Amino acid sequence: MTQKEFVEVLDILEKNIPSDSPSNILKNSFKRTPYTILMATLLSLRTKDENTAQVCKRLFPLVNTPKLMVEIPIEELEEIVRPTGMYHKKARVLQEVSQTLIDRFNSCVPQTKEELLSIKGVGEKTANIVLNNAFGTPIIAVDTHVHRVPNLLGFIKTKTEKETQKELSTRVPKEYWSSLNFNIVSFGQTICLPRNPKCEICPIVSYCKVQK
Ligand code: SF4
Repeated sequence: MTQKEFVEVLDILEKNIPSDSPSNILKNSFKRTPYTILMATLLSLRTKDENTAQVCKRLFPLVNTPKLMVEIPIEELEEIVRPTGMYHKKARVLQEVSQTLIDRFNSCVPQTKEELLSIKGVGEKTANIVLNNAFGTPIIAVDTHVHRVPNLLGFIKTKTEKETQKELSTRVPKEYWSSLNFNIVSFGQTICLPRNPKCEICPIVSYCKVQK
């Protein structure tokens, strides 16, 4: 697939985001601030967006600042975040990251990758998503769908998410970087499912080699 065709695919996906996609539901499940976006991203690791949305809906009306997060009893926090799995660890990470924001960043989420990565508990993927979603920094956040779909379409040929990030950043025009993750994830969650893709309703079927 050429760069021109991939850009056409991105344009089509942008116009066909299913409103019921889990990532769309997650996006609309809480009041978005840099802080809640950071906490939601930490909660979303290794779980489905549906579970994260469920927790965000309950958590953020009660706890939406670093101060409130470090004050909530850990047992209560664990109970709230339980649906996202690994709840002992996640509750602890939410409180530790919040304490770091209080101690080192005046209770604000830093806006540079270097500073974000200096926070214990914040990894590359989280930093990229926060920079992109909270501050509009053009950056391609790669997850399992963003790795899988461009490979399936034959636009890239990569083995790891890191390689995918590098390849896409080289070949996709910058104006598409910010929306790429959301659009491809929504598509991968609802239509181009890893198993049993719904090719019969796929808006980019004419571009797909799998279907030719
Ligand atoms: S035609 Fe099927 S396999 Fe190809 S991109 Fe669409 S849903 Fe995925």
